[in-house]
Amino acid sequence: AKDHGKNQFSFYFDDLKTDAKRTFTLDSELRKAISNKNEFEIYYQPKVNYQKQQIIGMEALVRWHNEILGNVSPGEFIPYAEETGLIIPLSEIILEKVCLDAHELIGNGYKMPIAINISSIHFHQPNFITSIQQILERNNLPANHFELELTERTIMNNEKETTRKLILLKHMGFKLSLDDFGTGYSSLSYLVEFPLDCLKIDQSFIKQICSVSDKQAIVHAIIQMAHRLQMSVIAEGVEQRDQVKLLGEMDCDMIQGYYYSKPVPLDEIMEFLEFWELEIEG
Ligand code: C2E
Ligand code: CA
Ligand code: CA
Ligand code: CA
Repeated sequence: AKDHGKNQFSFYFDDLKTDAKRTFTLDSELRKAISNKNEFEIYYQPKVNYQKQQIIGMEALVRWHNEILGNVSPGEFIPYAEETGLIIPLSEIILEKVCLDAHELIGNGYKMPIAINISSIHFHQPNFITSIQQILERNNLPANHFELELTERTIMNNEKETTRKLILLKHMGFKLSLDDFGTGYSSLSYLVEFPLDCLKIDQSFIKQICSVSDKQAIVHAIIQMAHRLQMSVIAEGVEQRDQVKLLGEMDCDMIQGYYYSKPVPLDEIMEFLEFWELEIEG
């Protein structure tokens, strides 16, 4: 490359051009993928009950395989889809795919609930509840087969409407979890107000849980508070045996993370479940 004579500005300008080009490609490829529907795949990560050493559920995490962009991380395309409103059709595609997979899992004897990440924009659509209800009805699946993962940011918005929606979803049979707990707002009063079943402690607390005693203290306090409020607790991003052990000692109900399994495609999660059962039995 002929970089001679370029100043800071032109380097900066090159970066901008590269970014703009990527965004342009991302935008057009994402729109195409949403209309074709076949570039998305759902991966699953198990949730393990610590005491029973049982897989009590799994989280659905979307993957996007694109010919031009390769595998794009949801950390990149989900926020972009939220900015552009594409998250609405995308969320429906994800839900439909999860429903198909749910039938496959149930057909193979795996009846544990599946957790779905709900984007804030999607949740706050006026027709969110009817649309999710229609998808489940069309696929002949009950709401109690699913858990909805909502972030603090999502439910701290428009409190009155949110309470109404959460109560409705709860009555429909969904399990409700608060994702990324500890990273959003500091007000805890809504924990009492909203009908939540489970707190999901954010990975950032788990990372240093064994080395930083302050983090450990926070996690312990979260677990005790959740239990006092009749909620269960799951730790996410758990990678090491020491972390599992410590969380177990602190009475954390469930564990999710690479320690047990990365998120994997449907056929692999079924193999994993089968193997797990053999291990427990044998
Ligand atoms: P999240 O809901 O907090 O999901 C947890 C993320 O941590 C996932 O990243 C997962 O692959 C990763 N993870 C799980 N265990 C470990 C571990 O032990 N160590 C580390 N370092 N990471 C772990 P992923 O799949 O890249 O998703 C990133 C974010 O994108 C998600 O964060 C969620 O906010 C969003 N997302 C993913 N799939 C969907 C979806 O289907 N719908 C919506 N609305 N958002 C999604
Ligand atoms: Ca999640
Ligand atoms: Ca999370
Ligand atoms: Ca997150």
